[in-house]
Amino acid sequence: MSIAENVAAIKADIEKAALAAGRDPKQIKLCAATKMNGADNVRQAIAAGVDCCGENRVQELTQKLSENAYEGAPVHFIGHLQTNKVKQVVGKVDLIQSVDRMKLLECIQAEAAKQGIVQDILLEINIGEEESKSGFGIEDILPLVEKMSNFPNVRVKGLMAIPPVCENSGDNDKFFLEIRNLSVDITAKKYDNVSVDILSMGMSGDYTDAIRCGSTMIRVGTAIFGARDYTKSHQN
Ligand SMILES: *Cc1c(COP(=O)(O)O)cnc(C)c1O
Repeated sequence: MSIAENVAAIKADIEKAALAAGRDPKQIKLCAATKMNGADNVRQAIAAGVDCCGENRVQELTQKLSENAYEGAPVHFIGHLQTNKVKQVVGKVDLIQSVDRMKLLECIQAEAAKQGIVQDILLEINIGEEESKSGFGIEDILPLVEKMSNFPNVRVKGLMAIPPVCENSGDNDKFFLEIRNLSVDITAKKYDNVSVDILSMGMSGDYTDAIRCGSTMIRVGTAIFGARDYTKSHQN
């Protein structure tokens, strides 16, 4: 199947899952996870109507920006971001989805202040509490958003999570619902600089589950572009 056909099929799934859950399909954005795909594939996905692109690696982001690969769609950063590369991302992307630790948040604040901008971000939650994964603990989020006025050049737009790989439909529902409940708690408190309009959760294996559980942005790679060939590279 072509990229255009895959995107059309996913959009049909989004609509079906949203309507089944009594939701407006327009509330759910499709973010193409473009890692290891070149500018041509990115352009095809945008032409097919994805809402935004998500890039994992700074080097790929910089390369594809220089090729104007994202023209016509917002670009997000969704990968692990080293603090020494913050300069190459702040102000270059519409949203940094993967703000996963305090040190990174501080660096983004400092760089955004230097540039005189406000950078939109999501707070990444370590939802399976897996050692290997980054992210704030779910219990850290409320105390953190309470202090966001200390980060005037950063605006929290929502939450992002990468739950464990889904083996069976429904496996990750408990995680998705936990995040959704947290977003309801945050909204109720009406903090400065903080909204939770975006709940970025759901990937190729579980996006219909995520939509049923309240996701407003799914990040899809494999189902759009096909399986990534990791033998060609040691990159993430
Ligand atoms: C690669 C990636 C995705 C997409 O994963 P697929 O299973 O290929 O859909 C989503 N989010 C992040 C952060 C990723 O790195």
